[in-house]
Amino acid sequence: MKISIDPHSGFCFGVVKAIATAEQALRTYHHIYCLGDIVHNNEEVCRLKNMGMDVVDLQQLQTLQQQQILIRAHGEPPSTYKLAAQNNNTIIDATCTVVLHLQKQVKNGYQQMQEKNGQVVIFGKKGHAEVIGLVGQTNNTAIVISSLEEIEYLNYNIPMRLYAQTTQNLHTYKIIAEAIENKYRQHNDNYDFIWYDTICRQVSNREESLKKFAQAHDVIIFVSGAKSSNGMVLFNICQSVNANSHLVSSIDKIDKTWFAHAQSVGICGATSTPLWLMQTMAEHIQLIVNQQ
Ligand code: SF4
Repeated sequence: MKISIDPHSGFCFGVVKAIATAEQALRTYHHIYCLGDIVHNNEEVCRLKNMGMDVVDLQQLQTLQQQQILIRAHGEPPSTYKLAAQNNNTIIDATCTVVLHLQKQVKNGYQQMQEKNGQVVIFGKKGHAEVIGLVGQTNNTAIVISSLEEIEYLNYNIPMRLYAQTTQNLHTYKIIAEAIENKYRQHNDNYDFIWYDTICRQVSNREESLKKFAQAHDVIIFVSGAKSSNGMVLFNICQSVNANSHLVSSIDKIDKTWFAHAQSVGICGATSTPLWLMQTMAEHIQLIVNQQ
């Protein structure tokens, strides 16, 4: 049986930069705090914990003083920076440049909408760290929608600026943007609606190559943490073309019966999946297949 790792899977440049920033800070300070998991991948979080990086949540941040706090690639709302500064903490900012750019766009859109009595809408996962950071740019006034159905509840009598969380599905986002535009047309000829394509190509560009990779193998092992948004998007793509696709976070989740009649196994993952974990997965599968 042949086992291959998808050459296009693994960390995106935003996560590579965040981890390099964390490692550099650990070499300097020996101990730092990270606000939330640096990637949605427990194995990588454990590796960095062993090097001296502790994960804290927003509540715990309130109790920290004069510490080094790493902000991960997802970014944070302005209130987090303010809170850290109040307690004399030092921010090590690893917000991805793509997310930083989007935060600025949302902030601009918010200023425009304030002048025009309009609304900022974000297509994304409610409660996701990146989305919280984006909503924070609008003084927490932005409306978050997660599906096409939710556009029914928007107000088409006032202007709108629409943005998407960077890891959402581009095709779905375009459908939603066009549906909103149609709603405006039905209400008013002089509508003021602008939508921005803010999807990160590190995720959307992977979709086509991932489809081909999933089609080319009998069994697909998609390695990702359950909390990863882009992991779910990319796993659904694998499943749409290969019913024998399995989402796993660690080697103990592997079921040897999956490989009973397989000639080839493809291993792939999210932008938060480290290459070393996919390699470990490949070695483990080879071992259990040899034992069968
Ligand atoms: S997926 Fe894109 S936006 Fe998100 S961290 Fe990676 S490079 Fe940045």
